[in-house]
Amino acid sequence: MSDPRRPNKVLRYKPPPSECNPALDDPTPDYMNLLGMIFSMCGLMLKLKWCAWVAVYCSFISFANSRSSEDTKQMMSSFMYKPPPSECNPALDDPTPDYMNLLGMIFSMCGLMLKTCPAVQPDMLNVHLVAHTHDDVGWLKTVDQYFYGVENDIQHAGVQYILDSVISALLADPTRRFIYVEIAFFSRWWHQQTNATQEAVRDLVRQGRLEFANGGWVMNDEASTHYGAIVDQMTLGLRFLEDTFGDDGRPRVAWHIDPFGHSREQASLFAQMGFDGFFFGRLDYQDKWVRKEKREMEQLWRGSTSLKPPTADLFTGVLPNGYNPPESLCWDVLCNDKPVVEDPRSPEYNAKHLVDYFLQVATAQAQFYRTNHTVMTMGSDFMYENANMWFKNLDKLIRLVNAQQANGSRVHVLYSTPACYLWELNNANLTWSVKRDDFFPYADGPHNFWTGYFSSRPALKRYERFSYNFLQVCNQLEAQAGPAANMGPYGSGDSAPLNEAMAVLQHHDAVSGTSKQHVAYDYARQLSAGWGPCEVLLSNALARLIGSKEDFSFCRELNISICPFSQGAARFQVIVYNPLGRKVDWMVRLPVSQTAFTVKDPSGKTVHSDVVLLPSSDRQDVSPELLFPASVPALGFSIYSVSPVLSRNPRARAPQPSSQKSWSGVLAIKNEFIRATFDPDTGLLMEIENLDQKLLLPVRQAFFWYNASMGDNESEQASGAYIFRPSRPKPLPVSRWAQIRLVKTALVQEVHQNFSAWCSQVVRLYPGQRHLELEWTVGPIPVGDGWGKEVISRFDTPLETRGLFYTDSNGREILQRRRDYRPTWTLNQTEPVAGNYYPVNSRIYITDENVQLTVLTDRSQGGSSLRDGSLELMVHRRLLRDDGRGVGEPLLESGTGVWVRGRHLVLLDKAQVAAAGHRLLAEKEILAPQVVLATGGGAPYRPGVAPRTQFSGLQRELPPSVHLLTLARWGPDTLLLRLEHQFAVGEDSNRNLSSPVTVDLQNLFSAFTITRLQETTLAANQPRASASRLKWTSDTGPTPYPAAPVLDPAAVTLQPMEIRTFLASVQWKKDS
Ligand SMILES: [Zn+2]
Repeated sequence: MSDPRRPNKVLRYKPPPSECNPALDDPTPDYMNLLGMIFSMCGLMLKLKWCAWVAVYCSFISFANSRSSEDTKQMMSSFMYKPPPSECNPALDDPTPDYMNLLGMIFSMCGLMLKTCPAVQPDMLNVHLVAHTHDDVGWLKTVDQYFYGVENDIQHAGVQYILDSVISALLADPTRRFIYVEIAFFSRWWHQQTNATQEAVRDLVRQGRLEFANGGWVMNDEASTHYGAIVDQMTLGLRFLEDTFGDDGRPRVAWHIDPFGHSREQASLFAQMGFDGFFFGRLDYQDKWVRKEKREMEQLWRGSTSLKPPTADLFTGVLPNGYNPPESLCWDVLCNDKPVVEDPRSPEYNAKHLVDYFLQVATAQAQFYRTNHTVMTMGSDFMYENANMWFKNLDKLIRLVNAQQANGSRVHVLYSTPACYLWELNNANLTWSVKRDDFFPYADGPHNFWTGYFSSRPALKRYERFSYNFLQVCNQLEAQAGPAANMGPYGSGDSAPLNEAMAVLQHHDAVSGTSKQHVAYDYARQLSAGWGPCEVLLSNALARLIGSKEDFSFCRELNISICPFSQGAARFQVIVYNPLGRKVDWMVRLPVSQTAFTVKDPSGKTVHSDVVLLPSSDRQDVSPELLFPASVPALGFSIYSVSPVLSRNPRARAPQPSSQKSWSGVLAIKNEFIRATFDPDTGLLMEIENLDQKLLLPVRQAFFWYNASMGDNESEQASGAYIFRPSRPKPLPVSRWAQIRLVKTALVQEVHQNFSAWCSQVVRLYPGQRHLELEWTVGPIPVGDGWGKEVISRFDTPLETRGLFYTDSNGREILQRRRDYRPTWTLNQTEPVAGNYYPVNSRIYITDENVQLTVLTDRSQGGSSLRDGSLELMVHRRLLRDDGRGVGEPLLESGTGVWVRGRHLVLLDKAQVAAAGHRLLAEKEILAPQVVLATGGGAPYRPGVAPRTQFSGLQRELPPSVHLLTLARWGPDTLLLRLEHQFAVGEDSNRNLSSPVTVDLQNLFSAFTITRLQETTLAANQPRASASRLKWTSDTGPTPYPAAPVLDPAAVTLQPMEIRTFLASVQWKKDS
């Protein structure tokens, strides 16, 4: 057994016997040489600085004492050869025995250090006790309230005290171990410690007694998160550990013990980050029964259908008892279990009973696992504030249980960690079965499906996604402008606050919408606070790249057509920044107060523009909006100037309001690619036609609502923040018809549908657009009738879909879903609606294999196909009951969040070309252009240098299958760069977009030159070349571990769905 952290290196380290048998006539120099060698080996292997220093010391002595004596050596020896420290100070008169002793000692020391995992008993059942705390980064209390222990009447929890207490308890006894997970908390605590404490903690980490598991900033949600944000938040946490503890702090095990269902993409990402294994706590109760029976609680999870195994393979274990200790064995201030009393004279004596009980529990749970190792999670939410209580009782339990071995017990219990447990599983050399689907949806009972949170708090979910877009723009401009972005004419700009806020939002009670209301407000506050320093950064960077110190202005509320700047100024400039690696054409849309403008493009040519006077359903007035098409180069900007036309007649197009009755003929909107037809009687969308591909599909779209259950005879389960439970399977229409108005100009065609006072929609087509845009507005959902409501948008078509539909996994690969079915067990469907809901992070589609109808979302939502040919997305929900999963509040959302606006982008394609459409559109949606306004006429950034009106950060565009996932500042002259192949294997045969693609990184970027390139694993915390993972044998046959590809910056090849991560040393160009 040796250290799971460095298994490959351990294997190499065997003391060669010849070295233990040197010529002994005058051993000192050789001996010191050898010592030096050993210590330097240890140093190398362990990255222990003290080893290196001892090695240096020993080699100096060796040098000074070597047999040929020269003056210089004499001189050196006179001050070098002091009485050495004990490790290097044998008695030399009869060196042999001491010498060997010493060697033995040193080897055993090195061995000890290598072997940071505790000893196990090969022929016994080994029970790995994992002492842990689960610290939510916000839930019932805000992040700060949890850290400091404020508002303990809401929940008794103070993370700073937990860490203080755990560290003291670990220092008090060298056998104790603990794991820590949430770096958002740990890093904050760390920065408040003295040097002495930090050094003591470093020591504990080095010894493997404080082990980091997972190591993300937070333990992210898996159902409502986008992979880009997951990668960012993991990178942030793992970077802290790498910077603070080096390789000793690098977690080997992913640990998602609380998230409410698990996505396949998460497993794929963890594998690509270099994790050796993954443990979680929650899975469907039926799934768990079957797994226990089949002893498949531990498996290999194949996270990708595109990436070649074992790239996305991840050993995955289901923990036996969620993440809690066995019943009656909880020794926390938050528990009431009896402590271990081993004094037989005490009336409270219980040691024998506890030991017997423990042996019984351990043996029982081990039946469901395949090795002679089993794990117990000794801790839970915010436990270990008084760590002594836990450790004191665990110390006794371990001693008492192991003492039974003298009486023939075959159970060995030990302090352990997930990495040490995993290491033993790996040592067992078994062949593991392979899982290919995911763990959604999660139910903990027949009427308890955790599918409501896929849609809970839709406003926060959109704000999070929108902030992801803005953060990437901020990161890119920081990377392109270099230090000038951080300090410039507008003050100090910083991307870190938004990066951290976004990381916090990925927590499994944040973007999931499962926190208390005041905590949800605090999440929004953190995002908003992060935007400020990024806006300063953008101003600095844009001023530098444009060459003009403009008076920049940002409009954060364009989604609801509010922008005081454009509404107040008569003439202004519109800077459109495009974060994609390809040129983008985009319709700029700004609220204004004038009715006619002249808009000029970067070359000074007038572009067509319109002011549309938009009807407003809830107001009498109309709000003018300026529209003009912008074209923006890759990773760059175009500047348009807008000035009013005062003398001429306004070219404004007033809406042509009309009730549905006046439409005698066909009501349709149409561009060169799409035609959408509406039913003149009901005002509902009736038909979509793809003119290019000559497809016509009847599509009826309308809004419905499920009546949220308050609990009934079958189950008292109510719909709530987590749980979706409609009282009846059939939803009610919001309205059977819509009042409609048509707006048609040269630049836009819109059908405005008003379904009710709280539900409306605009169906929109711009010229050149291959999709239909449905912008819905829902809320405030009325609940005065005493009924909670869960609102869906439903598309009904005659497509024969045979129970199948498709949803994305965290915005990346696509999973097939089948109604009333689970791929790995025979489902007993008990909730025909909620039990068929799945997370939709970016798209859902149905197909009859000829025609595909795809709907892209602008945030995560729950979705399903409950009838063939139909698909639905839950857009909003408002509930009157708590669902009993801890949050203790009904999801009633007042204030912001009460009404929500969002967009569904609808594509109708032939199935074989559909991927090209939805992949490229989803990319434009996640990284939409950023609009910045300015008054124009700013002072030159550099005297004598004329400002520019257009810029591209790329010398050539990236191929369509390549997505620039990350371009961000990493260090003073280092950037983090991620390139992604955004197509899956076999997805696009038409344009060959699924083929491997090669990119030349040399001279690719305009603003900087790459001087050195290093490839890393996905989270950038270890070089790819030296990264190694534990190897597992699957029942699908051998999977050869490929060597890391040789890095040639001129030819970086990406396989389908591959992400490659680089740290690039750069030099910014002076003139860019
Ligand atoms: Zn949690």
